[in-house]
Amino acid sequence: MKINILIIIILLLSSCVTSPLGRPQLVFMSADKMNKMGVSAFDDFKKEQPILDNPIIHQYVACIANAVVAEIGNQLTDPKAASAFQSTRWETVVFLDEDPNAFALPGGKIGVHTGLFQIADNPDRLATVIGHEVAHVLSQHANERLSQRTAVDIGLELVEIIADTRQSANRDLIKGALGLGSQFGILLPYSRLHEKEADLLGLQLMARAGFNPKESVVLWQKMGQLNKEKPFEFFSTHPADETRIASLNEVMPTAWQLYQQAQALHKTPHCQVPADLNEILSTPPSEEKLETIQANLDPQLLEPIEGISFEQWAKINNALLYFEGKKPLVLKPINLNQEQYDKISAAWTNRMKADKTFGLSKVYTYYFFNASQGQFAQLGKEVAQAFHDGKDPTSTPAISLEKWVEIRHFVSALPKSKQKNLSKQLQDNYGFSFYEWNILDNWWSRKVFGAAERGDNTLLKQMQEYDSKTSKI
Ligand SMILES: [Zn+2]
Repeated sequence: MKINILIIIILLLSSCVTSPLGRPQLVFMSADKMNKMGVSAFDDFKKEQPILDNPIIHQYVACIANAVVAEIGNQLTDPKAASAFQSTRWETVVFLDEDPNAFALPGGKIGVHTGLFQIADNPDRLATVIGHEVAHVLSQHANERLSQRTAVDIGLELVEIIADTRQSANRDLIKGALGLGSQFGILLPYSRLHEKEADLLGLQLMARAGFNPKESVVLWQKMGQLNKEKPFEFFSTHPADETRIASLNEVMPTAWQLYQQAQALHKTPHCQVPADLNEILSTPPSEEKLETIQANLDPQLLEPIEGISFEQWAKINNALLYFEGKKPLVLKPINLNQEQYDKISAAWTNRMKADKTFGLSKVYTYYFFNASQGQFAQLGKEVAQAFHDGKDPTSTPAISLEKWVEIRHFVSALPKSKQKNLSKQLQDNYGFSFYEWNILDNWWSRKVFGAAERGDNTLLKQMQEYDSKTSKI
């Protein structure tokens, strides 16, 4: 830990910047490197996820995104930052995915899932989500998170390995840090603080562009409503609760003023919802398209369930979404044909002894709980049980604060040569795969650093105590 503190001090001296809202930040990855990571993650994403084959909807989303990013120069007070972001050429892609979600990456990449249209069902609401995601990028939240994780967590020496995008495990970690979520098996939600910043900055951006900021409240209310019905990933990272709505309302007068100024300047983006949006979205892809995507199908993914690794499962999880009997349009991300889909679907259903329909969370807990039996050490099983019971896994004795600190030390003490086999090391010693460890590590990180952000240092102090004890061993 001593080394890590030293590293942090050096970094604090060398890389303290302020967020667009004036908060001091620790970021030590260069903007250039972050942009490269963003662009490469987006390239992978485009290869792995089916893209909506409809220019009208792409134009509609790009119309909104362009209006929002056009305001970056007016929004950022630091001229250097403003010009860096202004010179970015932003790219917007609509992905076929029923999960209501959107993301923005450093390097000027914006992704919107088709599932988002069910909530962000008018331009103002869609602008709310896009403004929010772009604000994460402008605030360098991914950089901050990666900086914090790598410095505190796994040691600076790992940064270079992690930044080496040629290694697929690293690519997945980077994607997690960039906020690309559980498609890659790693879910790293932004902290409440980052979420709040993105909300407030995003609101100003959309209002400046001439979108009605009051619609943001409606959007989050709709999110909250849907959240009660279905456990989508976006909701676990973006709680649509009263606190969120209250803080939006708090800054509404300023945003409203910006909106009125925009109107006076005749900034009224003409981004019309395509009249046949729902029809387009429910049209199945052409036979020809299905054939080409099936040609790229990885036959391994069709192995019987016991043969499906966690990593593969992370890839196919969305293909198994089967909400309310409604089959996904394209069976993403591996694009199975109907017969293949039914086969896998039936296999899962059988093994789960569940009803005809099943959701992502069920598959998830099933995998953790059953399919993993015998593969995990006791520790892994206890955590799996917690997931299965819908409990906070940090509340289990298996991954107590002390244990968490111990594993962090174990990871950072691994010689460089072994860090490349992190997953195996973790599995052998603790019964976790690299992916699971990331999820668990994230739970604790959020708990400890989240509390510290709110001014409660109890856990942080306890962590430091365990830290000093562990380093003496
Ligand atoms: Zn967010």
